[in-house]
Amino acid sequence: MTSADFARNRDNFCYRHPGTQSFVLCQRCMRTICADCQTQAPVGVICPECLKAQRKAESPAQRRARRQSRSMAAMFAGRPPTVTAAIVILTGFIGLLQMIPGIGNEITRALMFFAPSLYPSLNGGVSEPWRLLTPLLVHGGFFHLALNMLALYVIGRSLEPMLGKWRFLALYLISGLGGSVAVALISPLTPVVGASGAIFGLFGALLVIGRKAGRTSPGSW
Ligand SMILES: [Zn+2]
Ligand SMILES: [Zn+2]
Repeated sequence: MTSADFARNRDNFCYRHPGTQSFVLCQRCMRTICADCQTQAPVGVICPECLKAQRKAESPAQRRARRQSRSMAAMFAGRPPTVTAAIVILTGFIGLLQMIPGIGNEITRALMFFAPSLYPSLNGGVSEPWRLLTPLLVHGGFFHLALNMLALYVIGRSLEPMLGKWRFLALYLISGLGGSVAVALISPLTPVVGASGAIFGLFGALLVIGRKAGRTSPGSW
């Protein structure tokens, strides 16, 4: 084939834009379409006419699902996970302070959860209820911190835009609180550090929301 033949061959031009060269075919009608005319389909691309025909053939339920997934995508786009980022930065910062010899242990001791410190009679006459939440900020070493923050980031990136900032933060704190209460009941003499309880709660919420949205696992978020 010479280049002149090539230029004359209508199959190498978009059927809707005869001036635009293309080698991509619509997967439904097999006509050539240019980049402007392509819509991503499950397999390959389809042309605007086929897209229209396909949408006409959709059942009302299919149409509703398509609209819903589009509006959900629009809703979540442009909502950066600020609370997630703030928690990761704050916790990471305190994790760094914990590694400083001398003051590191003091910080850990000041923030960790230890059930007896809730009871004035066991704690020199003072109750320290903030310890139900502060263990979220301290970790038992670099890997504990790194793994928890990685998990928090991965889950928060999906979950925070769905819940909104404040509900996400509330869920994080309530889950963390629940973790401390569970430790106080199950193993009251074990001092605890780490955000694992809170992250577990977030993960549970993600599973529930994922199932409600008709997905089998949160992996596709
Ligand atoms: Zn087509
Ligand atoms: Zn075109």
